[in-house]
Amino acid sequence: MSLDSVANASPVSPVPSSAQPTDTAPTVTATIPTGKANPSHIRLTSHAGGFGALPIKWGAATASERGPIVGTTTKRAHRNVIGTHSGSYSIYRALAVAAGALSPQHKADLTNTAPTDVIGPYPQWSEPGKIVSLDPWGGLVADVFATELAAGYDIRPTIAVTKAHVILPEVIEALQTGRLKADGKFLTANGAALVTKAAIEPVWYLPEVARRFNCSETDLRRVLFEETGGMYPELVTRSDLEVFLPPIGGQTIYIFGNPRDLANTDVELTARIHDECNGSDVFGSDICTCRPYLTHAIEECIMGAQRGGVGLVAYSRKEGRALGEVTKFLVYNARKRQVGGDTADQYFARTECVAGVQDMRFQELMPDVFHWLGIKKIHRLVSMSNMKYDAITNSGIEVGVRVNIPDDLIPADARVEMDAKMAAGYFTPGVVPDAEELKKAKGRGLDL
Ligand SMILES: [Zn+2]
Repeated sequence: MSLDSVANASPVSPVPSSAQPTDTAPTVTATIPTGKANPSHIRLTSHAGGFGALPIKWGAATASERGPIVGTTTKRAHRNVIGTHSGSYSIYRALAVAAGALSPQHKADLTNTAPTDVIGPYPQWSEPGKIVSLDPWGGLVADVFATELAAGYDIRPTIAVTKAHVILPEVIEALQTGRLKADGKFLTANGAALVTKAAIEPVWYLPEVARRFNCSETDLRRVLFEETGGMYPELVTRSDLEVFLPPIGGQTIYIFGNPRDLANTDVELTARIHDECNGSDVFGSDICTCRPYLTHAIEECIMGAQRGGVGLVAYSRKEGRALGEVTKFLVYNARKRQVGGDTADQYFARTECVAGVQDMRFQELMPDVFHWLGIKKIHRLVSMSNMKYDAITNSGIEVGVRVNIPDDLIPADARVEMDAKMAAGYFTPGVVPDAEELKKAKGRGLDL
């Protein structure tokens, strides 16, 4: 494979510009037209040459043995990963620099940003292969890497933990109809649920991510490089860099009750892992059950906390089965325009026609967040997805009962999805629809 396209075969320029970071590492450069905030040459990342980059020993028992994740672009010689912070938002940061709105040298002032609740460390943090897609120490960097920070390393948190009041119309309605009761501790009289929440950016340890997907690390690196249009040359040129900060969405967790109880198998844990569906979650679109499932899970979590347990909703940015909204909306049209109308028996086929697969969420990495929280047992899993259930139990976490969505919370237009999923083997305590039932058109037409 040639990297000519990356370097653009341009003449190498040794002249640094004023915007050039002040590191002393030798850099390979190539001239490009100067932009507003751009240096006059590209600093390629595809060659080793950093002085002072700290080693990462993934899965080590202590933070100091593991070493910090340094993905900053302010001091390139210190970088010990591929990619940079903030997941997909790293591109907006680049835009801000390009527009001249942000100094590329800006270093975050982390005063008073420490987590409101300390998570871990837990034994799973150093169990081989348990956590491969997030940095368990990512919320504690100001504390555990204080020495390195003082020495000038720009180490940024990849996890932030805070507290919030969550106010949802469904929860207020549940209070009004008596399904939920206010206690002033977990749920206020005006319907605010008190939560601890954490935002988590993806941090991938490539050798173990490859193992989860049953491919070689070499193949994973090559395909990530090629299928992103050659976005990160180090994937194929820097096998010494084993950690990748991918430009994808991360996840947010909401904890109802004491976060420390999550790791205590004696405390009843109600949990849902929810994959993003903007159309339903935020805008109330009725073609699927996503928001009803989410708010039902939140109700279950609140009730669980009130029973002396703890609740957890883990929300992953995997819009439209990680196919994205454009693909999702194309599939909606294909479903509703097909001969015979929107039927459950064609539900998965229509997705596969457009996307090539039924689903790209691949739950293999999902249980990592549970291991980060020290979870060993989920007493009540609010989900009908076998893929999620299998991923969780295969990762060594015990699951007690599975809780599915009550029928009266399913929107009429979402019946297609529910029947298709049940027929495909998703968990249901009810009757699985037969082939005849699946052929009946149940979805609304586009003009209705
Ligand atoms: Zn949905």
